[in-house]
Amino acid sequence: MKKRRAFDVIIVGGGLAGLTSAIHLSKQNKQVLLVEKNEYPKHKVCGEYISNEVLPYLNSLGIHPINYGAKKITKVHISTIKSNLIKGELPLGGFGMSRYFLDDLLVNKARLNGVQVLKDSVEAIHFKEDAFTITTKNAKVFQSKVVVGAFGKRSSLDKKMNRKFFQKKSPYLAVKIHVKGVFPEDLVALHNFEGGYCGVSKVENNAINLCYITEYRLFKKHKTITDFQNQVVFKNEYLRKLFKETTPIFKQPLSISQISFQTKTPVEDHIIMCGDTAGMIHPLCGNGMGMAISSARLASIRILQFLNGEIKTRAALEKQYIRDWNKEFKIRLKTGHFVAWLFRNQMLSQIAYSILKRIPSLLPKMIKFTHGKQLQPL
Ligand SMILES: Cc1cc2nc3c(=O)[nH]c(=O)nc-3n(C[C@H](O)[C@H](O)[C@H](O)COP(=O)(O)OP(=O)(O)OC[C@H]3O[C@@H](n4cnc5c(N)ncnc54)[C@H](O)[C@@H]3O)c2cc1C
Repeated sequence: MKKRRAFDVIIVGGGLAGLTSAIHLSKQNKQVLLVEKNEYPKHKVCGEYISNEVLPYLNSLGIHPINYGAKKITKVHISTIKSNLIKGELPLGGFGMSRYFLDDLLVNKARLNGVQVLKDSVEAIHFKEDAFTITTKNAKVFQSKVVVGAFGKRSSLDKKMNRKFFQKKSPYLAVKIHVKGVFPEDLVALHNFEGGYCGVSKVENNAINLCYITEYRLFKKHKTITDFQNQVVFKNEYLRKLFKETTPIFKQPLSISQISFQTKTPVEDHIIMCGDTAGMIHPLCGNGMGMAISSARLASIRILQFLNGEIKTRAALEKQYIRDWNKEFKIRLKTGHFVAWLFRNQMLSQIAYSILKRIPSLLPKMIKFTHGKQLQPL
């Protein structure tokens, strides 16, 4: 194995959280290495609706999704398991852009800023004598003062680190497909079915993204995705119509399993965790990407203060980041789990529907609880 030069920061994982912090830190002239195990561009299982809370900050990093055709989304429809529809306005609104396009946009910006992007998988992260050493699958070794963990909801690294959430059940799976058809550009729809929900919105190339999440124990009663959709998902009449009246663009739907919403910790083994690696909100709240970008911003601000000597010790850096993270996300995560639980339950979702029908102003309030304020630009 060959020793390589040291970086200020190594970022493990190049999804939204990793790429955002890479752009932020490199914009402030830090030497950054980002290691991502997959090629760009790549489709990811995701609802692809992003809250506008991140837009001014993304713009300040030089990322302008609307200029690349992202759909401006201002309205939300939520249907219950029994296909009762609630219509509302989104307090801040959002935009629709595929992860295929967005992650690629970000990685190109990172490269332009001078970030070294390496396609490899990180196998080990060691902390010794106040510095990190990382080792990759291709036997490359790098060193840095700081490591950002942005390796997503579940990685082999979590297992190696013996993270607590990894030992608990991960009972959800998700399926996504892009289709061609008719759907309003300014709408995100969240259609519930027994044991899950499906998000629907348009992305930059006019494709409609259909992405649902459900419990594995319910899914496994059916032999295939098609069976499951026919027997469970299509009981919601909006979903039946959407799937039947559109044409698939992908040859096969994409799927992922072992999704968990267990509590995680924002710093472990001195690694500053961002995005899903630090904690995952239920996708029904449509704000995981917002949280990934927002946590990357929080982490980058504190890391810069540490590297520039304004935060004097590593212990102070870690304490401050944990404090920032909890202040920003703890209540959101709890509300997110509550909302998802409410809509999963047939009886409770009908009660919620009746209340929201009578008092429509409650819907934007509920959404606000799972979202943050607009992020300050850089
Ligand atoms: C079904 C579903 C629907 C969703 N819908 C929405 C939505 O509509 N709106 C929204 O805001 N959020 C949504 N989310 C949440 C959103 O997708 C995530 O919160 C977001 O992708 C988190 O970004 P991230 O950067 O933390 O992780 P990721 O985007 O998953 O990036 C992690 C990266 O780390 C890489 N990696 C992992 N291990 C290693 C390793 N050892 N070495 C190198 N690289 C590694 C992976 O390849 C990956 O690219 C949804 C999630 C699901 C499951």
